[in-house]
Amino acid sequence: MTTRTPDIDTSDLSSSDALEAARVCVWVWDADTRTLSIRASGASVLPEIEGDWQLKDLTKILDGLSGTALCNALEPDSPSDDEISVELGFAKGGTLRLLGARGSPKTARGLVFATGNSAVPAIEIDLEPVYQPIIRLRDGSIAGFEALARWRDPEGNLQPVSELSHLGNPLAGARLALNMLEGASTALARWHEKYESLNLFVQVNLTGADLFRGDVLERVSSIVQSELFPSNALRVELTEQMAFRDFDAGVAAAVALQASGVALVLDDFGSGYSSLAWLASIPAIGIKLDPQLTQLPVSPRTDSVLSGIARLARSLGMTITAEGIEDFDRVQFLRGIGCDYVQGFAYARPMSFDAATKFLGSQKQLEELKT
Ligand code: C2E
Ligand code: CA
Ligand code: CA
Repeated sequence: MTTRTPDIDTSDLSSSDALEAARVCVWVWDADTRTLSIRASGASVLPEIEGDWQLKDLTKILDGLSGTALCNALEPDSPSDDEISVELGFAKGGTLRLLGARGSPKTARGLVFATGNSAVPAIEIDLEPVYQPIIRLRDGSIAGFEALARWRDPEGNLQPVSELSHLGNPLAGARLALNMLEGASTALARWHEKYESLNLFVQVNLTGADLFRGDVLERVSSIVQSELFPSNALRVELTEQMAFRDFDAGVAAAVALQASGVALVLDDFGSGYSSLAWLASIPAIGIKLDPQLTQLPVSPRTDSVLSGIARLARSLGMTITAEGIEDFDRVQFLRGIGCDYVQGFAYARPMSFDAATKFLGSQKQLEELKT
């Protein structure tokens, strides 16, 4: 029997390590000085374009078409917060892609990366996504799923990825990300085909290292462009760990990811890694309250903290998901403070694609009985 070696790293790389591993640079545009700053926070990974560029100097080394496209994207006739996505062709050959979005009329940021040179090795891992339902508190219906990675050990048992976190191979980590994106989008497409009216979403977990990989961003774009499901149905859960060492690079990567076409959700909110600066800087559509918060013993103090966070999220137009709900004791309170979704063993455990499809089928029947 051949034993497949699980070689996945779900622990996070620091931003700078990730930049080195991925041939990616951060870019920041300042409209006042008309400067495009392109930098790697570690070793020089795309040396040909690093530095502070005046737009006119940069366009000199680009081919004519991409020079014009870059100018139009950075200095549009009417500034908006639209995404910025430009293919940069160099006069002497080679292409890069610049992806990001405007933070204000005066600034924009994102990532620039080499395209079409996926270095992710075909590592053999028996990876199988499982799906945990995310339930709408309003009416108990299934709003979507979180896709969670499992691998099959040599005995044939499914294991969580946390069992593998001591192994440190960033390329294998990217393989995990690509497999999970693939699995989740296939599941999403099939569910949308079968149960279109449920308007489901699926949330995939990506690490900071994943975000700094051009091939992961490219894959996300092409999945979204395939239009197999509505554009907001594929979502990515991020933890602040990814911006731990280099906050600006983390924000630029999150902005670029969003520009590639997925909605972002801030995971593990309220645990050690989340901060208000992250909340203020990331264009996310929702937060997930960490079990550390939702499982705190009931007290007036805990209630104030939870309702304060919920108010803050709502004032930013973000949805709130309470995670780690193991019993129904707190559900009334969570509904009262404006939580939109709940996720936890009290409702459903992570399950295979087939089991999740059956689960959806029974929900659909219930709906039809009601109408
Ligand atoms: P996470 O993103 O916070 O995922 C939620 C974890 O909570 C999952 O564990 C889920 O099974 C578990 N959970 C759900 N409901 C309950 C509950 O009511 N009580 C308790 N005690 N736990 C509950 P899992 O699948 O073992 O994943 C653990 C962590 O591993 C995840 O935390 C995430 O950080 C990481 N992970 C899982 N899948 C992926 C993946 O595809 N990519 C990456 N990068 N990380 C992943
Ligand atoms: Ca998660
Ligand atoms: Ca979480």
